[in-house]
Amino acid sequence: MKLKPNILAAIGNTPLVKLNKVVPEGAAEVWVKCEYLNPAGSIKDRMAAYIVERAEEAGLLKPGGLIVENTSGNTGQGLAMAAAIKGYRCIFTMPDKMSKEKQDSLKAYGAEVIITPTDVPGDSPEHYVNVAKKIAEDTPGAFYVDQYHSEWNIDAHYHSTGKEIFEDTDGGKFDAFVGGTGTGGTVSGVGRYFKEHAPNVKIIGADPLGSVHYHLFHTKTLPTAHVYMVEGIGEDIECRAMDFSVVDDMRQVNDRDSFVMARRLVREEGMFVGGSSGSNVHVAVEIAKELGPGKVVITVLPDHGNRYVSKFLNDNWMKEHGFTETERELGFVEELM
Ligand code: PMP
Repeated sequence: MKLKPNILAAIGNTPLVKLNKVVPEGAAEVWVKCEYLNPAGSIKDRMAAYIVERAEEAGLLKPGGLIVENTSGNTGQGLAMAAAIKGYRCIFTMPDKMSKEKQDSLKAYGAEVIITPTDVPGDSPEHYVNVAKKIAEDTPGAFYVDQYHSEWNIDAHYHSTGKEIFEDTDGGKFDAFVGGTGTGGTVSGVGRYFKEHAPNVKIIGADPLGSVHYHLFHTKTLPTAHVYMVEGIGEDIECRAMDFSVVDDMRQVNDRDSFVMARRLVREEGMFVGGSSGSNVHVAVEIAKELGPGKVVITVLPDHGNRYVSKFLNDNWMKEHGFTETERELGFVEELM
């Protein structure tokens, strides 16, 4: 019998798969860990389930308790899934720019969603992070997850994502790992694991153009963040879940390259993934070209494309935002127009 006690036991042990079409000849191989196949659809399921367990052990979350987090997406889905199974209440705060589908998906799990104005400064009491903190402070028995600054976020990826990739590769028989940087948890947890167990592997962060992580790594100064469209990676604040001491290099990637590559992953590799998967693979292919044949680069595909069907996976949306692929990128050598 291969029966699992509940759906949380289906988190992780995702397949590691070779990319065959989007990697040019003469480059290293690129292998991807399919995190979009986790039960609530993203890599954040790992962190959500792990943090809920740690909070229970630490006595911060008791039966019937309340989980509070500022989240616009995948973390909310993972926490809501865990809460549904374990009988916790959830309150999530999110800015009003987030899609109705995201709000409604969380509500479908039974979570309460509080919508806050997007256009307010970080220190405003109306800012979604401050609203979440205040609810957690004011509600007895509430546990504030605080993914941006939690050591447990890093630990989750150390114990699961990092360990699994190590085991998937016969003890780290590959050359470089690329991880997109949102909270920083993935790259920091995987990075720590490999610095301890297989330091030959280079750890590289992929940051969207407009986010602060790239500059913090290279210049140690906090730049002004600007708007970008890829969801789930990039930040406008310094995160304590981002441990640059285990990162060897940071690369930048723009929206267009991310979306074009994510669409190629769907169309050419049959992997129905989100935009940050495109960011990660775009950077992984760059590294693969630099390393050349005989080497292997590994990255993660963080979330499922079903969240983006009306966004970058839609041709009209791409056109409206000026991201449309050239005929060459679509596989036609000659221009047809
Ligand atoms: N991609 C997506 C779609 C995400 O939701 C996240 C989580 N914010 C990431 C990548 C990056 O993960 P991390 O927060 O661990 O840096």
